[in-house]
Amino acid sequence: MFKKIFGNKEGLINSLPQVRGKYIENAKLAKYTWFGVGGPAEVLFLPEDYDDLKTFLLLKPKEIPVTVIGGGSNLLIRDGGILGVVIKLDTPAFQQIHIDGLEVTVGAGLRNADLKKELIANEIGGLEFICSVPGRIGGLLRTNAGCFGRAVSDAFVNAHIMNEWGEIYEVEAGDFNFSYRNSLFPESWIILDVTFKGIISTAENIKKVMEEQAEYRRLRQPINKKTGGSTFKNPDGLAAWKLIDEAGCRGLKVGGAEVSDMHCNFLINTGNATADDIEKLGELIIEKVKEKTAITLEWEIRRMGVKK
Ligand SMILES: Cc1cc2nc3c(=O)[nH]c(=O)nc-3n(C[C@H](O)[C@H](O)[C@H](O)COP(=O)(O)OP(=O)(O)OC[C@H]3O[C@@H](n4cnc5c(N)ncnc54)[C@H](O)[C@@H]3O)c2cc1C
Repeated sequence: MFKKIFGNKEGLINSLPQVRGKYIENAKLAKYTWFGVGGPAEVLFLPEDYDDLKTFLLLKPKEIPVTVIGGGSNLLIRDGGILGVVIKLDTPAFQQIHIDGLEVTVGAGLRNADLKKELIANEIGGLEFICSVPGRIGGLLRTNAGCFGRAVSDAFVNAHIMNEWGEIYEVEAGDFNFSYRNSLFPESWIILDVTFKGIISTAENIKKVMEEQAEYRRLRQPINKKTGGSTFKNPDGLAAWKLIDEAGCRGLKVGGAEVSDMHCNFLINTGNATADDIEKLGELIIEKVKEKTAITLEWEIRRMGVKK
């Protein structure tokens, strides 16, 4: 079912360098995404630490494509899967937290929610919104995630990235070209860690803000369903969910994919959806909204991989 593009009879894995981390062949990516859909990675690589990642990047054949995924909360991986090597920063080496005054440096593989305890213990405020976004720190930065009136770029100090030759650089905001729910930098960069700056607060206040934000989501977003968050970006000055609702798409279905009744900009895998169902539903929404309003919605969810 999966075409080998490198012509190696034994498979891609045999052309990869020896590493200390783990290679998993034909790894099911659906279990790493919030939607719970998508085909396999030809090879999934879980590096042990920075050196291991560097070894891999330096010694792998250059023509093999590499894709990094985070918590999979903004991803629609197509049913044919991802060719080449998919990297996930999953070990403790990529999940470190260092605090220096009001600056917090966080490993790219850390779940955003796992930052809560440290922020409360060190009474660092202003970063609560980060903990409320599903996913991990690398994906958070890549998508310039935001909510509750703040975006990652507002709290960003700097980051470390590894390039395709395994070199590590400190990178400033200007190098990431942040825009609404996006950043623009070379595809080959792998984010290793990010430093954010918070403000002085109290443990009590931070907990209160976190609880309010969690409650807001519980009441307004289908956070316990298989979803990818906001499907489309809000067009300038407009709310995507409203345009979708007004175009009559609330509850619209394609196969096992459905527009959430609770929040029209969220698509749901009701149980047996394929990535193709979800993508087709998205395209249908774009068509209907355009018909009704002449506005073309732009995907916020990142679509990756090949169709089956
Ligand atoms: C219920 C729900 C609610 C959500 N609410 C919000 C919200 O309020 N605000 C918001 O902005 N988003 C929201 N999202 C979307 C999503 O959570 C964010 O975009 C999140 O930041 C994605 O992070 P992730 O780790 O899951 O990244 P993934 O989805 O795994 O990947 C996203 C992108 O980041 C890249 N990437 C990941 N890690 C790295 C790395 N180390 N180096 C380089 N590139 C990397 C991937 O290649 C991909 O292009 C929501 C999603 C869900 C499911």
